[in-house]
Amino acid sequence: MNIILLGAPGSGKGTQAEKLVQNFNFEQLSTGDLFRKNISEKTQMGLEASKLISAGKLVPDEITNKMVEEYLKNGNKENIIFDGYPRTINQAKALKEILVLNNSKIDKVILLDVEEKILLERLVGRLICPKCKRSYHLKNRPPKKEGICDFDNSSLETRPDDKPEKIAIRLQSYLSDTSPLIDYYKTEKKLVKISVSNLTSEKVFEKIREALKL
Ligand code: AMP
Repeated sequence: MNIILLGAPGSGKGTQAEKLVQNFNFEQLSTGDLFRKNISEKTQMGLEASKLISAGKLVPDEITNKMVEEYLKNGNKENIIFDGYPRTINQAKALKEILVLNNSKIDKVILLDVEEKILLERLVGRLICPKCKRSYHLKNRPPKKEGICDFDNSSLETRPDDKPEKIAIRLQSYLSDTSPLIDYYKTEKKLVKISVSNLTSEKVFEKIREALKL
């Protein structure tokens, strides 16, 4: 089963993808993580994407689709969680074509719906482990030892695109470029909406399991 986690930045896509990978036989494909890997390895694509990402803007579809196509060419095409991809209608169409060529498809799209006020709170205090990619929050989900990852002792970092002025640009881009995907996947009868504003991440996970019959 292939699924898409759809939702604004800060809606908890990464956290839920992590839980699905830990508990079931899923592999996470996060285009954000792939871009950050390319940036840290200073590849040509990483250099091109870096400026856009730190400005809070989307990387062009052509580059993003090619990266996903390459990823899927070299590996598994089943049991994938698409986290942060697709983010535009063009990307959704490209993904459909790539999967059709592999005799595969998207089975369900889980929309994690959060009120904007809560998104801002979550993004402003977010801390990320650069090594294992786990996400923490200064207030809501602090690490056991201040500034240090519970799992591998790395120093936690704030993402450059989690600065308040960049957050506003990313939320705007979600509204204009990504939210049309909600209707797109509704029409395809694949969308399940979960309202997550007042739910713990454990409760959200339970709802995702229900939706996926896991
Ligand atoms: P994320 O970790 O999913 O929040 O992604 C971080 C940043 O990477 C985004 O703000 C974009 O600049 C870029 N990015 C990630 N996924 C995509 C995508 N599907 N299309 C375009 N840009 C993306």
